[in-house]
Amino acid sequence: MRIAQVSYHTNPVAPLGGRHTGGMNVYVHELSRELARLGNQVDIFTRLEGELPEVTTLAPNLRLVQLPAGPAAPLDKALLTPYVPAFVAEMNRFAADEGLSYDLVHSHYWQAIAAGEPFARAQDAPHLVMFHTLGEVKNRARVSEEEPGERIRRERELAASADAIITASGHEHDLLARYYGADAGRMVSIPCGIDTDLFRPRDRDECRRALGIKPDRPVLLWVGRLEKLKGVDILIDAVAELEDPEILLLVVGGDEHGEELRAELEEQAREAGLAGGVRFTGAVPHEDLPAWYSAADVCVVPSYYESFGLVAVEAMACGTPVVASRVGGLVSTVTDGVNGYLIPWRCPEPFAEKLEVLIRNPELRANFARAARDSVQRFRWDEVALRMEALYGDVIAARAGEEVPA
Ligand code: UDP
Repeated sequence: MRIAQVSYHTNPVAPLGGRHTGGMNVYVHELSRELARLGNQVDIFTRLEGELPEVTTLAPNLRLVQLPAGPAAPLDKALLTPYVPAFVAEMNRFAADEGLSYDLVHSHYWQAIAAGEPFARAQDAPHLVMFHTLGEVKNRARVSEEEPGERIRRERELAASADAIITASGHEHDLLARYYGADAGRMVSIPCGIDTDLFRPRDRDECRRALGIKPDRPVLLWVGRLEKLKGVDILIDAVAELEDPEILLLVVGGDEHGEELRAELEEQAREAGLAGGVRFTGAVPHEDLPAWYSAADVCVVPSYYESFGLVAVEAMACGTPVVASRVGGLVSTVTDGVNGYLIPWRCPEPFAEKLEVLIRNPELRANFARAARDSVQRFRWDEVALRMEALYGDVIAARAGEEVPA
């Protein structure tokens, strides 16, 4: 199959851990890589953000196509909607110049879906969509800036017009049905994948040595894009509740766009008397993260909302138990009392309580670690990509079937 992956607002191969570069980037890049490995021709379309070549070959069968739409510079995604038509025109131009026609278009996030829809129509190809996050759901979580009405209105229209909507969890499926009236018959649940060759347990002591962490210190780890929705404030207060000066909290992630929040969180930690107990490391390259997960006793995901939550799965793949909010996709990856704990309240005390249990109980941690490693097998990319490839084949066949005259 010749497949177009559309990731308009963010480049899937950009460095991770920035305000706008996280799970979706990892997902689009790895999914594309796996589909290319299976023998499909995959082009990833993204908006040009600098003086860069139009086409970059990332791997055999896999190309990154960067097309101009608006200023060729990084721009906040809130400002990118007006340039969607220009991006569509560029995708059409590129396909025409290359003499290519795509069998299927798969778009990620609402602006890319808005671009992918007319492009798929021009290609006479089916359009598969993944929302990754939903405006209505973000607004209901009430922690980030209000998502514009236009986003929610367009999401509703795009959910109605797509050939298929892929949801990463049963929870996302329910939200799309409840808030967007999406048709259950066109929704297919396929979980996100993780690289289980990269994310596997490493020697804890060695990792700690390499990261300059004392072998006997209880270590808690948070990883992600530094934004309010991720709930790092809850975690800092939870650590303060524990009143143990030995505890070290590592906060991994963040770039220049997250400096204001980082300063606020640093201040919060100082006021809570944790100046020496919280370390903000900035973003860490994806391939170095296994050492951080392996060095930690517990990985904490205190998010107000999380559509899938790759970090929790990566941590579990490294044999690190997770204490996470009982929200969104985390409910489908973390099993309470088996490979971690799920906390139903967005407040520090219940997090502190479960963190204390795990910190004080190495045997329990070891049991959770074993269960955690087993539980991530279903997120192996080789399996997830095969499911996606089969879905693509079905959607293409269904459409071809519809168009064959009776
Ligand atoms: N990540 C990374 N380096 C960092 C911070 C994050 O590689 O410094 C990666 C992390 O490994 C994960 C992704 O960014 O794959 C975050 O994905 P998740 O689904 O947890 O959150 P999202 O970004 O989708 O909100």
